Amino acid sequence: MKSSTETRLIKTPEEFCKWRCDQETAVDGDGRPFLGFVPTMGALHEGHLSLIRQAVKECRKVVVSIFVNPLQFGPNEDFEKYPRNLQADLSLCEKAGVHAVVNFNTQELYPHHPERSTKVFPPEELEDRLCGAVRPGHFVGVATVVLKLLMIVQPQQAYFGQKDFQQLAIIQRMVSDFFVPVRVVPVPTVREADGLAMSSRNVYLKAQERITALELYRTLCSVREDVLNGKSNLQDSLKAGRDRLAGTPGVTLQYLEACDPESLAFINDFKGPVVVLVAARVGEVRLIDNLLIT
Ligand code: AMP
Repeated sequence: MKSSTETRLIKTPEEFCKWRCDQETAVDGDGRPFLGFVPTMGALHEGHLSLIRQAVKECRKVVVSIFVNPLQFGPNEDFEKYPRNLQADLSLCEKAGVHAVVNFNTQELYPHHPERSTKVFPPEELEDRLCGAVRPGHFVGVATVVLKLLMIVQPQQAYFGQKDFQQLAIIQRMVSDFFVPVRVVPVPTVREADGLAMSSRNVYLKAQERITALELYRTLCSVREDVLNGKSNLQDSLKAGRDRLAGTPGVTLQYLEACDPESLAFINDFKGPVVVLVAARVGEVRLIDNLLIT
């Protein structure tokens, strides 16, 4: 007897991953993916909420994780004092229509202690620069915890902010290299009315530092403007930007660089799309931001 099921022959892991995502999308058939996932470290703000709202719009069920991951913090970083506010986060998630919040503890996610866990090492050319150079081991921690969470939650779509541009590039690469059957959805950076990129760490800024912090975004804008108006070449614009930030009282510049948006290779000349990325300490608070120039 002939079976009515059409058997699909699949020859590549990529094709299988896509087929699996499509199958789950098709279940019950309203066309939307079944499960959307937004991994966070909590202290939720409008930036997180824009990821969550997009997930709620696009997926039938949405899971948010809240976990401050010890493996991605260096010994002298702010793991202990990272803002934590589970009750407020839960109520924001509830209002946004999230179906489940997962809030595992370290013992559950790392049964054998974070340092003795099996780890994910991103490729050197994505990891050795920008934040990876300033925060050794940071992206090993990020990639490791994101893979763990993706394996537990098994979403069809996972949402990540472009605010953490290097993180997004590393996760996209990890998902592709490990054939993780998930679509990574990048979400644009959400800013305060004056342009400051929203961040959980902004709450630490004192009044004057909050004003100073805006220099990061302004510098990115002025690099973009100079390059797009042909006022100067990319290298000169970056140099002017570095000088501007280095000369701003209260700012300790870590980097201002232009990279290829996919490979993160450093770019000297503006010929195609580039992303300009900045990291600096404003007082004690470490901030990052970036802007695409296309
Ligand atoms: P975090 O809680 O800082 O680990 O961030 C969780 C997710 O929210 C990451 O994918 C971030 O890139 C994203 N995110 C954080 N701040 C913003 C923002 N201002 N705009 C868009 N996405 C953001």
